[in-house]
Amino acid sequence: MFDKIVPNAAPLIALVCAGCAHANASAPLAPEQNRAAWAATCTDWDEWDKPAPPYQIHGNVYYVGTCGIAAILIVGDAGIVLIDSGTEAGSQVVETNVAALGHSVAEVKALLTSHEHYDHVGGLARLQQLSGAPVYTSADAAPVLRSGKDNPRDPQAGLHDPMAPVAGEIRTVRDSEEITLAGVTITAVATPGHTLGAMSWQWQSCDSAECVTIVFGDSLTAVSSDEYRFTDHPEYVSMFRRGIARLAALDCDLLLTPHPSASNMPARLKGEAPWIDPGACQAYAASVTARLDARLAKEAAAK
Ligand SMILES: [Zn+2]
Repeated sequence: MFDKIVPNAAPLIALVCAGCAHANASAPLAPEQNRAAWAATCTDWDEWDKPAPPYQIHGNVYYVGTCGIAAILIVGDAGIVLIDSGTEAGSQVVETNVAALGHSVAEVKALLTSHEHYDHVGGLARLQQLSGAPVYTSADAAPVLRSGKDNPRDPQAGLHDPMAPVAGEIRTVRDSEEITLAGVTITAVATPGHTLGAMSWQWQSCDSAECVTIVFGDSLTAVSSDEYRFTDHPEYVSMFRRGIARLAALDCDLLLTPHPSASNMPARLKGEAPWIDPGACQAYAASVTARLDARLAKEAAAK
């Protein structure tokens, strides 16, 4: 419909929308209120597509996902960055939440991914169409995003509905690679295991009071189809353990996870556990290691 707008109307619209964005930006969120609103709307391990209000995580970092699936907005000096899209339906919640914060998906300069499962990246193709932004992902996740189909080596291969394939630009990043996007420097941390291409992300966020290191720590659960046995794939298990060890060793003041409940985010939002906790990545690594060990023991016992 925008191609029907007379040419001299465009600057006017830009002016009006810039005014809207400014009005929102100049009325900062009350973080406690928004966190309380999220916690009142959502339950632990909630539905993937259930709309949730956005809230401020820290500084220029915001939660824009649904009740069940995280999506993270980072507002940089030169645009905005989004991590994860949720499902295709969930990506509409993300779009609405980004707008509620006075921004637009059209401003997105980069789309980052956690892991290549449709609950986290099923809406990526849609968000890329809306933004034209490149996707930044791991070399193992890229073919899955491009095809929309699981990697056959994924322990959960065959369990997921196909996703809309990402048609636009995909840039792959390596473990420990630092990328500067929209003025924000983000480090890629390869944490394979839940999938081959699982990626965590680490960056620093500063507000007027403090700077913290945020880690968006990817899923690290040993989940599979009924017939898959991790014990049949010792090299995969070694890779899994290396990823967990990598996460445990990170500077990590504020842990976020693609499934909010995996890092206790709902309880932390209610103030039942610390929002900022420098031991969070180590605790997360210990809990996923215990789960992996239990899975391997169960498989060994069933032999
Ligand atoms: Zn998954």
